[in-house]
Amino acid sequence: MPLMRFPWSRRSAVPDDWRELAARHVADWGTYDPPDQERLGALMAELIDGHRWEPARGFELTDRMRVVIAIQASRLVLGLEGGTDWYERITTIVVHRSVLRFDRVEPGPVEGTEECGVVHLDGQTSYRGPVVISWDAASRNARHPTRGRDVVMHEFAHVLDMADGVVDGTPPLPPSQLERWVDVFTDAFDRLEEHGSEVLDDYAGTDAGEFFAVSTETFFTRPLQLAEAEPELYDLLRAFYRQDPAAAATDR
Ligand SMILES: [Zn+2]
Repeated sequence: MPLMRFPWSRRSAVPDDWRELAARHVADWGTYDPPDQERLGALMAELIDGHRWEPARGFELTDRMRVVIAIQASRLVLGLEGGTDWYERITTIVVHRSVLRFDRVEPGPVEGTEECGVVHLDGQTSYRGPVVISWDAASRNARHPTRGRDVVMHEFAHVLDMADGVVDGTPPLPPSQLERWVDVFTDAFDRLEEHGSEVLDDYAGTDAGEFFAVSTETFFTRPLQLAEAEPELYDLLRAFYRQDPAAAATDR
């Protein structure tokens, strides 16, 4: 369990009907077998109760929002040692109704850049800051996973990437995996830049950090297509996440 940040709040915000909410609103929930579903539920509860959740102004959070967002984020750490410890840098999870608007962006060291942050219309992740999610996008993505997009997985992949202090498309890895990771990712990135990709969204070509975030979305939402088009990339992501969603999708 992570440190409880709000010890005075004794009541859990996890709804009793979280299983029904997950089954109804996360379309590929059924690809997980019952023990993994229970483990995901435990991770989800740590995320819901261990972090501050805030609606954007004029918006209201519901059980369904917390469950769907926390489940999608938990899928990334299901096989990772440390579980939700990977997310302990996150100060707050902020949920907007639709696209994000920013009143204030931290300027970076170079004009026109932002410091330690990644901003999209559907989400934002900051180093030691909040993760910001558009509920319109998150709910749509969870209903239609085969379209290959998932804003929650995307933003939380950035958090994994940032765990070693830099956004460079490489989360903390055992030294034995690092060299091959850099080779395979660099090669796939170069090919995407040159010819585009039949499975990865063009946005992956923005930089190494976005390449990892988009690859992660694709790994979980279109695993068979990714395994077919980019077998080495798929293999490395399977080794990192210690999950095999293509096998789960085939068995279904
Ligand atoms: Zn991104």
